[in-house]
Amino acid sequence: MFETSIIELSQSALQKNINFIKTLAGDGVRMSSVIKGNAYGHGIDLFVPMAEKAGVRHFSVFSADEALQVVQSQQHGSKVMIMGHIHNEELLWAIENNVELFIFDLGRLETSLQLAAKNKAQVRIHLHLETGMNRLGLEEDELLKAIDLLKKYPDCFHLEGVCTHYAGAESIANYARVKSQIHEYKRRTRLLSRHEISPKYQHTACSAALVSYPQTRMDMVRVGILQYGFFPTQETLIQYLKNKEDKTDPLARVLNWKSRIMSTKEVSTGEFVGYGTTYMAAADSRIAVVPVGYAQGYSRLLSNQGRVLICGKQLSVIGTVNMNLILVDLTEAPEAQPGDEVVLIGSQGDLSISVASFGEFTNQLNYELLTRLPMSIPRKVVS
Ligand SMILES: *Cc1c(COP(=O)(O)O)cnc(C)c1O
Repeated sequence: MFETSIIELSQSALQKNINFIKTLAGDGVRMSSVIKGNAYGHGIDLFVPMAEKAGVRHFSVFSADEALQVVQSQQHGSKVMIMGHIHNEELLWAIENNVELFIFDLGRLETSLQLAAKNKAQVRIHLHLETGMNRLGLEEDELLKAIDLLKKYPDCFHLEGVCTHYAGAESIANYARVKSQIHEYKRRTRLLSRHEISPKYQHTACSAALVSYPQTRMDMVRVGILQYGFFPTQETLIQYLKNKEDKTDPLARVLNWKSRIMSTKEVSTGEFVGYGTTYMAAADSRIAVVPVGYAQGYSRLLSNQGRVLICGKQLSVIGTVNMNLILVDLTEAPEAQPGDEVVLIGSQGDLSISVASFGEFTNQLNYELLTRLPMSIPRKVVS
């Protein structure tokens, strides 16, 4: 191994999470596996076959390049849906490969219907309704115009879905806003039924909505973070556990990110450690140097905050995160030696490090840290 760290992906952990999601979503609710951001850092190419093995047959991506990776790596005829960006030049490719598209503006709808008509084909579309997030989605007047367009090209599309996305279902602070979006979504879909337009799937829920707002589950859920073994926020986990007897986290981390101790060093009381003066040894101590830093995706936000597992113990990252190194206080693990395993995310013995346990100072840290894990770190699937 030439690299300073490796990532292992656990098939059994993924199976456990998918089972949990399917049970929570309920019978007859389809799960779309959200794998944008390089499958939240896990790696699309490896993750797609793993998810298929766990029973997934539908994937959601952000962009056409990601959809291409799914088309190339799937082995069971799985479907893929682009929730975000595609160039007009790639629309024909999408149509020919049965790639499904979110429609959030009329231009996109008209161009793809015309292209489908010209090629005597059908474009698979999901009408993305604006309900209050004010990011992407058809406004009410645009929806009416979209209905007219669909009536003009009745043989040129499959209406795979109607959908929306919530502006922060992972925090109770957004409760009123999410509730009003649910209401607005219902109102706009009634408009569609009045015109006898019925989609195959209605889908609005992301992980947080699936857990905290059961009425958002409908025919399909678009689940990202939960399948990788993380709750969107601590709050969502508490929401889930609230009425449960068993208060243990029902998910398992799919990803294990590991390195090894590169060197150790003794420091005396009162000495500063690493760059600058952010960490001073409060006692004589021993320090491990680990060859992973922000260049490898270990966020600088974790300076004096991060935790790692060494010798089955949870230890603290001390000082600032460097470009290629972090320093760890070995006081609780005097037996640690160069070459010993260091777990940055995942489990060792009975302990585990979720990204969230690094600190709750930002909810987005799970998502951001995972997606920033560089592709250059080698990944392998384990049972
Ligand atoms: C990312 C995303 C999801 C999945 O979000 P999670 O919180 O990871 O479950 C669902 N829908 C859309 C539109 C998204 O962009």
